[in-house]
Amino acid sequence: MDVDDPSPRVGGGSGADPPRIRRLEESVVNRIAAGEVIQRPSSAVKELVENSLDAGASTVSVTVKDGGLKLIQVSDDGHGIRFEDLPILCERHTTSKLSAYEDLQTIKSMGFRGEALASMTYVGHVTVTTITEGQLHGYRVCYKDGVMENEPKPCAAVKGTQVMVENLFYNMVARRKTLQNSNDDYPKIVDFISRFAVHHINVNFSCRKHGANRADVHSSSTSSRLDAIRNVYGASVVRDLIEIEVSDEDAGDAVFKMDGYISNANYVAKKIMMILFINDRLVDCTALKRAIEFVYSATLPQASKPFIYMSINLPSEHVDVNIHPTKKEVSLLNQERIIETIKNTIEEKLRNSNTTRIFQTQLQAVNSSALTQVYTQKDKGTEVKMASGMKSQKTPVSQMVRTDPRNPSGRNVVRSRRNPKDACDLSSRHELLMEIDSHCHPGLLEVIKNCTYVGLADEVFALIQHNTHLYLVNVVNVSKELMYQQALCRFGNFNAIQLSEPAPLQELLLIALKDDELIGDENDEKLEIAEVNSKILKENAEMINEYFSIHVDQDGNLTRLPVVLDQYTPDMDHLPEFVLTMGNDVTWDDEKECFRTAAAAIGNFYALHPPILPNPSGSGVQLYKKNKDCMASGEHVDSTDEDDIDHELLAEAETAWSQREWTIQHVLFPSIRLFLKPPKSMATDGTFVQIASLEKLYKIFERC
Ligand code: ADP
Ligand code: MG
Repeated sequence: MDVDDPSPRVGGGSGADPPRIRRLEESVVNRIAAGEVIQRPSSAVKELVENSLDAGASTVSVTVKDGGLKLIQVSDDGHGIRFEDLPILCERHTTSKLSAYEDLQTIKSMGFRGEALASMTYVGHVTVTTITEGQLHGYRVCYKDGVMENEPKPCAAVKGTQVMVENLFYNMVARRKTLQNSNDDYPKIVDFISRFAVHHINVNFSCRKHGANRADVHSSSTSSRLDAIRNVYGASVVRDLIEIEVSDEDAGDAVFKMDGYISNANYVAKKIMMILFINDRLVDCTALKRAIEFVYSATLPQASKPFIYMSINLPSEHVDVNIHPTKKEVSLLNQERIIETIKNTIEEKLRNSNTTRIFQTQLQAVNSSALTQVYTQKDKGTEVKMASGMKSQKTPVSQMVRTDPRNPSGRNVVRSRRNPKDACDLSSRHELLMEIDSHCHPGLLEVIKNCTYVGLADEVFALIQHNTHLYLVNVVNVSKELMYQQALCRFGNFNAIQLSEPAPLQELLLIALKDDELIGDENDEKLEIAEVNSKILKENAEMINEYFSIHVDQDGNLTRLPVVLDQYTPDMDHLPEFVLTMGNDVTWDDEKECFRTAAAAIGNFYALHPPILPNPSGSGVQLYKKNKDCMASGEHVDSTDEDDIDHELLAEAETAWSQREWTIQHVLFPSIRLFLKPPKSMATDGTFVQIASLEKLYKIFERC
């Protein structure tokens, strides 16, 4: 190594001189800082519009050329800028909104750093025209690198201020290139203005491309928020909105108010649209957005990309506005609690919105094949073939219930049958739903709606807490009932689980019968029973497909099962048993009984039974020993000799058990909270058992 080399070295070896530290020139510092505040044209537009709003404007007009790179012009009718302030207007850290650091605690304006205009002059050419109240003429002045380029020139002006930024990033080659290459920023600018227009309903906003006659956003001052949303996002969005409001004011430490609009089950979009204002600042709050997305996908999976407008207000000392260079994010005191309250409010709202509409939306989603669990074009083809091929067959129940008597072309048959009205209108199904309602235990309903899941107590029971009570809940029973009720609710409108390979009914039935000792060992007898049952299912294929989305093809293969609960697939180990129950236990000659027994069979299959593989946790691991003889003889029972264990099977069992536990917590209980109407019998049959009351304990303490 050449030790005499005086040039600085980056990451040089031990012999190298450390690089010299130099003070950066102020212009470089300013340009670097400016690049942070004004990251792209849309951030400049946001800052300028916020300045206009801070100036009390009632009209804000934005014009943009070349995605903002060539020109951004924002005009307002606000209070204007004093003549004597013009020399320092664009210096860094000059502001009319803040004087002491403490003011930040109570600041109401959107700006406070005095950096936006300055930054723009370091990365673009800025011209300001302004007039204040009572003046005969205005002034125009150009700025560069924070200072005036000329004395302010008197000029004609209308009330307010116009800021023009030209050639943004002219001196930042790399930035300009990336922005030119990437899609231009105009859509982002339109998006910002749209959001402002929804929140500031008493301000007229417009946003247009330079030279265009039509504005892309044009809102006029109104007193109604829905009008404002309609103006900007269209009537179709407004139609699907629900008003929402919550406040938490007794809590002392988490005082806040929220109001807004959220979309219902009918609003289907590709992306979530979340317009959030906290203390009138347009901000992002990733945690809140995630929480809302979670509620929607758990409650309305088909409408899981909602439209949200939300305005949150809290005491300004509870908001830290100074955590982000572009003030994009803020941090809140008691953020988690606020999010939780909002999340619960939304959940409640969605739960109470009309459920039948949800199912219709699901059907729409099926038709537009927007989901992964729906039919592919190819499947539709097979279904069509099957449907027309079945015409001549005897299908007693489906004759009794309505099918299209005109038998139009195959495709139409399918479509008309999948009309939700046909299925939903059936009075026997309606009666079954009414029974569920009339048997519902109000006390238990209150418990499950407002309980907290604590954990699994054993293989069958979970522990939940409601107020001061602890309950054991039989997971198998509640899930069976939930699935039964859901099967009737979603009746005729299921999404489908496609089996990866068609499963022959006959084989499934034989598997199910294999262990049935009552039938004796005669294989012929079992074969006969299997044949009879698969014949019954084939005869009723059309009906069970139409109403329960259980699809049996012409060759007697099961190909599809219904999605009874979103994000949940039943344990396929129970499939043979299910097919046998469908063939054996469903009453086919009475419509209502048919629906009840079929839904019960589905409920039983989809319930969260313990996995067939024994639980390997704790000493259960012994069950996975390869050498079963030594277990039987009672020797070496304690040994967990690694080589002795069937690791593959053990891993499978571990997955099955932990998946079940996850599903119980994250799918089953949230759904129970939303959908289950617990029958009265559950209060006495051991499904719910109260095991402790903290109240009694409190009382004991009180006496002490
Ligand atoms: P900040 O908004 O953080 O104060 P800016 O650099 O955005 O900093 O603006 C500096 C100052 O210029 C503001 O404090 C305000 O007094 C004045 N100003 C900027 N834009 C306008 C406007 N459109 N109308 C009136 N005053 C404005
Ligand atoms: Mg500002």
